[in-house]
Amino acid sequence: MSGRLQGKVALVIGGARGIGGAVAARFAQEGADIAIADLDDAAGERHAADLGGLYLRADVSRAEEAEAAVAATLERFGRLDVLVQNAGIYPWTLIENTSPEEWDRVISVNLGGCFHAARAAVKPMKAQKSGRILFTSSITGTHVTSPGHGHYSATKAGINGFIRAAALEFAGYGVTVNGVEPGNILTEGMKAHRSGEFIQAMADAIPLGRMGTPEDVANAFLFLASDEAAFITGTTIIVDGGQLLPEGNDF
Ligand code: NAD
Repeated sequence: MSGRLQGKVALVIGGARGIGGAVAARFAQEGADIAIADLDDAAGERHAADLGGLYLRADVSRAEEAEAAVAATLERFGRLDVLVQNAGIYPWTLIENTSPEEWDRVISVNLGGCFHAARAAVKPMKAQKSGRILFTSSITGTHVTSPGHGHYSATKAGINGFIRAAALEFAGYGVTVNGVEPGNILTEGMKAHRSGEFIQAMADAIPLGRMGTPEDVANAFLFLASDEAAFITGTTIIVDGGQLLPEGNDF
């Protein structure tokens, strides 16, 4: 199947690389016009150019920058059908070593970013009487966590709660709100945080026998953005290769 997003406009925040980069590419492959918002100008500009899209510099933790990204998308393409707020940071720091500043930064990017982006995107979507708002959560939000993930797990649990609350508020406007909960996905960000040995151990603990790819996650986002997901709102799809199945798996 192709052309599943033909005629749609999508803004992918945190779309320069990794999971967001794959989402932008998959959506473009299915015919969507793409705007990428990110902080990594070099990677964002390159990826947007490859997809024939628009690059916007925006720090999603800042309300005015999220609003400006939505406004620039509307100015360029005239509408906004799909918002993906994927930007997230995941420093591994034990709670007792986490500074209040680091706590605030993780909360403001991962969770605040979802609020700022959704608040900005819902206005044009409400006027259109249609729209899809999608977030990247994580299996750490509801199921597993690991030492060093206090702030991160809190944000992902918060995103899942926000998805349900926003889905209820926006349903009357024809706007759905959903998320994807990836397990362990091999991205640039993951490689920067974890050794090759640790990544191999994580892969060995996944029942399907490998780390996830950004494309595995992008396919779930594509489904949630597509017409096939019209009656789905307020929920998340887990993409983890079966990681949650065995008891006692604490990666
Ligand atoms: P990544 O670091 O490879 O890519 C993240 C992108 O977001 C980068 O392009 C970065 O520049 C951008 N970004 C960071 N902060 C930003 C900000 N304040 N404003 C705008 N853009 C910003 O990360 P990834 O591994 O692809 O993760 C993407 C998302 O997936 C995150 O929300 C992460 O929590 C989530 N996630 C990742 C995994 C995994 O195993 N990789 C698992 C579960 C959930």
